[in-house]
Amino acid sequence: MTATAPIPHAPITQDLLTIPRKTPEGGRVNLVGLTRDGLRTALIEAGTPEKQAGMRAGQIWQWIYQKGVREFSAMTNLAKAYRAELEATFDIAVPEVVSKQVSLDGTRKYLMRIAGGHEVEVVYIPEEDRGTLCISSQVGCTLTCSFCHTGTQKLVRNLTAGEIIGQVMVARDDLDEWPRPGEGSGDRPRLISNIVLMGMGEPLYNFENVRDAMKIAMDGEGIAISRRRITLSTSGVVPEIARCAEEIGCMLAVSFHATTNEVRDRLVPINKRWNIQTLLDALRAYPKVSNSERITFEYVMLKDVNDSDEDARRLVQLIRGIPAKINLIPFNEWPGAPYVRSDWTRIERFADIIYKAGYASPIRTPRGEDIMAACGQLKSATERARKSRAEIAAETGVTP
Ligand code: SAH
Ligand code: SF4
Repeated sequence: MTATAPIPHAPITQDLLTIPRKTPEGGRVNLVGLTRDGLRTALIEAGTPEKQAGMRAGQIWQWIYQKGVREFSAMTNLAKAYRAELEATFDIAVPEVVSKQVSLDGTRKYLMRIAGGHEVEVVYIPEEDRGTLCISSQVGCTLTCSFCHTGTQKLVRNLTAGEIIGQVMVARDDLDEWPRPGEGSGDRPRLISNIVLMGMGEPLYNFENVRDAMKIAMDGEGIAISRRRITLSTSGVVPEIARCAEEIGCMLAVSFHATTNEVRDRLVPINKRWNIQTLLDALRAYPKVSNSERITFEYVMLKDVNDSDEDARRLVQLIRGIPAKINLIPFNEWPGAPYVRSDWTRIERFADIIYKAGYASPIRTPRGEDIMAACGQLKSATERARKSRAEIAAETGVTP
């Protein structure tokens, strides 16, 4: 580990939107998203005797996260009267699927509605050796990366832990992935084997909720996805980076995208607050780096902006000493985007320079392009639809 200057800890103004655990309908407390301790405490507060609460919490946990059960009445190892009490006090609520689109390549894009009528998008990407679920951490984003369509939308709010893990649960419902009666959780190949926090939002600006949700995803008595199969992508919220290793322990990806501060300021404006050098110092000090766990550097390929040979060479210079993999993302265009995708030969040449310098440099195959499900396009279709409805209303005076 390299010694670094202390990083100034700026107040995280974005972490301000705490949502109560109560559901809007019945006022019942939602158990989904509570940590194991939180679940135990909630049961005690509702009258479960303290010495039973640990065991009850364990049973309920397994019903919810191992079996995918949503009704207290189905929790057959609990006494009937107790189930009725739970039913009166608690809820097991997950987001609601508003629409689902399936791409020609098998990618599925879900639009999910959460409390307050907000919507987030979730993408499932099946591949030969894995199935990756790309989930959202915020509705919109406070940051304004100029190549990202989510960045053109304002932050509406942070998702709760229940809404974050709820996206995984609902995708498991749709894929019919919960174990069937009599079946062990390892009996069928996993459909969702990996989770990436690469949907809408900046996960490190919603740290606690993301952490609690990922702890649930990793818990061995439930969804049980290994920490090595969960990747959190950040645009570079430097003061929160170390916490990611310490408190979540998942893999880290960083939206790097440029090799000079001048260009990165334009592409990823958070660079004006924490520039390339500050970010790299934080990555060098990243606790997992000492165990040689690789950090993924994401690099979006924008024609004539950041895709020269010189950029590729500068990139490998910059990251020297950091165990890394560089994921090249061909730019996914969206209507009105101010950039175009680099030519394929350019991307390959860029990849080659990085590879020859000793780094893995996979080019991310765009998936689900026909349904606008690719990186950085999320929510766009919905927003567009909404905008055009609003425009219609403005033009006609009729509210659609
Ligand atoms: N907010 C986080 C995670 C969500 S974005 C972050 O910025 O890291 C997931 C990845 O997609 C990021 O690397 C992001 O920079 C990239 N991305 C955003 N818009 C894109 C686009 N239009 N084409 C390709 N990649 C894009
Ligand atoms: Fe937000 Fe990430 Fe998009 Fe930047 S790239 S605007 S941080 S979602």
